[in-house]
Amino acid sequence: MEHLAELDKKHFIHPTSSIQQQQANGPKVIMEKGEGIYLTDINGSEYMDAMSSLWNVNIGHGQDELAEAAAEQMKQLAFSSAFSTFSHEPAIRLAEKIASIAPDGLNAVFFTSGGSESNDSAIKLTRHYWRIQDQPERRKIIGLKRAYHGVAAASTSATGIKEFQEMAGEMMTGFVHTETPYEKTADEAIHDLRQTIETEGPDTVAAVMAEPIQGAGGVLIPPDDYLRQVRALCDEYGILFIADEVITGFGRTGKMFGVENFSITPDLMTFAKGVTSGYLPLGGVIVSDHVHEMLKEKSKGTLFHGFTYSGHPTAAAVGLKNIEIIERDGLVENAREMGGQMLRAFEKVQSELDIVGDVRAKGLLGAVELVQDPATNKRFSPDQQAAPKVIDQLHERGMICRPVSFEGTDIICFAPPLIINREQVHTMVEKLHDAVFAVQKELQV
Ligand code: PLP
Repeated sequence: MEHLAELDKKHFIHPTSSIQQQQANGPKVIMEKGEGIYLTDINGSEYMDAMSSLWNVNIGHGQDELAEAAAEQMKQLAFSSAFSTFSHEPAIRLAEKIASIAPDGLNAVFFTSGGSESNDSAIKLTRHYWRIQDQPERRKIIGLKRAYHGVAAASTSATGIKEFQEMAGEMMTGFVHTETPYEKTADEAIHDLRQTIETEGPDTVAAVMAEPIQGAGGVLIPPDDYLRQVRALCDEYGILFIADEVITGFGRTGKMFGVENFSITPDLMTFAKGVTSGYLPLGGVIVSDHVHEMLKEKSKGTLFHGFTYSGHPTAAAVGLKNIEIIERDGLVENAREMGGQMLRAFEKVQSELDIVGDVRAKGLLGAVELVQDPATNKRFSPDQQAAPKVIDQLHERGMICRPVSFEGTDIICFAPPLIINREQVHTMVEKLHDAVFAVQKELQV
């Protein structure tokens, strides 16, 4: 098994990792098996996967039905192109299924292999939408600070986290960022958005892009009417609204899609992750009827945008089966119910420990903030490493969570599989309590 760790150090460049640390220490854990909400590593240690791995394993690990759907489709037709006039049943059926569960008025799907590709595609489609209406100057995309939209060229530029932008070296032109209603109020954030639109010039803005709930930014749940106000501003200026549902889609927030919590309908909606629960890579853009009509009416010639794996038959078959399971097993409702229990348990931890600030959840997407003093919201200094220390404590207790510790915040994120039950929610938050208590003692608060 050490052999594997050595090979990893030599040959495997990990995504979003410290290459130096990897060289020094090798991988912390090598996973071997998944079952339900648990992962087991090559040494037989078991971990509760309180993040659904990367916010994506919505139906949990080890679901044979998805393996069978993939095997059946692979034997029948593993791959065939969907380019131009070619098509195949799995992609047709999945597009139809997604249209049937998406908010009213969103009925056409462009497929990709993941979230970054989906957001780049939405941005390109949006710019194309304006170009075919003879408004090529409408090309700017307004994103939010702390937003995460992926790591491809346009999605990195739309991302509002400076570390990702610095790594890319240079941003694409035409991207601006406005305040998010986190450290600002919703009114201040809306005011800033209006100012930005006015300063940039409304006729130069193609779209506003936002996650209904910012995930990697720290599970930032906006006040109820914030997104309605964003939608209203977009309508006022004739700007398109792109909702990034890569994390929030497919039941995560206790609704099939995150926007349903805020009663808004976007013009374009991107998805990935939960569409296949991560069993195979798949993503896409759902397009509203009026955008689709415009493309059909005015897009002359070939739409020069498409991936080899757009509509991959095997991935599509897995997506279909995954959505069938989400519906059949009532996982959206379970997310709502278990999410309520998780939030109440967070609140109890908050009342018992001295370093827990804000706690929040929408369905099974939640977060717990660590602060030095909840009364004043005074934060820890970055060198105190409060959130990473809690994550280490949780790891020792057999649980995987995710810290968000940029720009001075210490946030522990939660996104367990939607199949989680009452007892498991209880255990999950009990482990959190013990881990935070240990760090509180260590930091001598
Ligand atoms: N958008 C959001 C909201 C995400 O959380 C992510 C990934 O975490 C992405 C886009 C990028 O997706 P991918 O990593 O599949 O490219």
